[in-house]
Amino acid sequence: VTVHSGRWFPDDRAAAPYRYLPVDVPRGAEGLAVRLAYDRSAGVLDLGCFGPAGFRGWSGGARDGFVITAGAATPGYLPGELEAGTWQVVLGLHRVAPTGTAYEMQAHIGRFAVPDPPPPARAPAVRPARRALPADDESQWAAGDLHSHTVHSDGTLSVADLATLAASRGLDFLAVTDHNTVSHHTELPAAAARTGLVLLPGQELTTGDGHANCFGPTGWVDFRGSADDWLTSASSRGGLLSINHPLAGDCAWRRPMSGRPPLVEVWHSSWTWFPRSPAPLDWWRSYAPAAVPVGGSDWHRPGNDAPPGSPTTWVRCQAGQSDVDTVLAGLAAGRVALSASPSGPVLVPYDGALLAVDADGSVAVDGEGRRRAVRGDRVTLPSGPGPHRLVDDRGATLALVP
Ligand SMILES: [Zn+2]
Ligand SMILES: [Zn+2]
Repeated sequence: VTVHSGRWFPDDRAAAPYRYLPVDVPRGAEGLAVRLAYDRSAGVLDLGCFGPAGFRGWSGGARDGFVITAGAATPGYLPGELEAGTWQVVLGLHRVAPTGTAYEMQAHIGRFAVPDPPPPARAPAVRPARRALPADDESQWAAGDLHSHTVHSDGTLSVADLATLAASRGLDFLAVTDHNTVSHHTELPAAAARTGLVLLPGQELTTGDGHANCFGPTGWVDFRGSADDWLTSASSRGGLLSINHPLAGDCAWRRPMSGRPPLVEVWHSSWTWFPRSPAPLDWWRSYAPAAVPVGGSDWHRPGNDAPPGSPTTWVRCQAGQSDVDTVLAGLAAGRVALSASPSGPVLVPYDGALLAVDADGSVAVDGEGRRRAVRGDRVTLPSGPGPHRLVDDRGATLALVP
């Protein structure tokens, strides 16, 4: 048993937000079990782990312990051989009380059972009929959501159950973006096969001064690096970086960054708290006007979040060919349209113009702020410098195209 204890103060957090507690793992160890105890009323300590060969998992503030064995691990952590040598249990000093936050970490080496993940609880996905939006060049619009969480971080559903829920909402693709880990990636292919959904491997790089999603087959990206490091890692490994919920309170984007990401989450579900606010559009225009806007529900659990697809990101893909690569290529090329839900009003570029679909009674607003009432279920509007939006009679955004 290895025990580390002490008290973290605001000065410690200011000096270095990640603290490493060494644990010696002997040759032949079958399992590592870690428990972290601290007063949750006096701070938030994130928890994670690195082995001698690199990243082994992260659970942020969602758990007070984890187990890693060769064959299984607590969600958020990577199963596999335990290399002999010095491991590091990481504490992230997310919030520390002025009077200090006392903690004790215990690490045990031994044989531990990791409970099997529960089998999918939901019935097989019942997918609503595909919505056939008009699309140029033998292509089709795939409906998706670029931001969601599972038990691999602070969500409550398994990957399988989340995929079933997303399919039942009429989505074609979903990015699973657990915080600072990739332990969910191995479960994506089976859940995709079972539901017919395209599941994009994702990870939400999560820090005290901003969050960003990394989409694609990049492997784990080191969230401890700078935002420019994130950008380099994503682009050099075939991924796409997206700044998340840039204006969402204490999760707003405040990280220094000299480059600009290819995508920005202009439409996060938190926009529905202030649906008439121009702030997300103004931020996009001033911070990264060339970035492609995307939407994300940031779904965590039933009951208290916007369900998957609110908002929906539509990506135009070659007909019959939507897979991870084609969805990523469509995002990178800006072939997107955003709408408040999978079934609501939507505005798509089509045949050199814009088409407002199922938007009777809404108002179209172009890039210069000119307004025009929409009458009918399929209304052609002139294209021109964007972004173009559909808004309701109170000014809340219903749909957006760059
Ligand atoms: Zn976030
Ligand atoms: Zn999130």
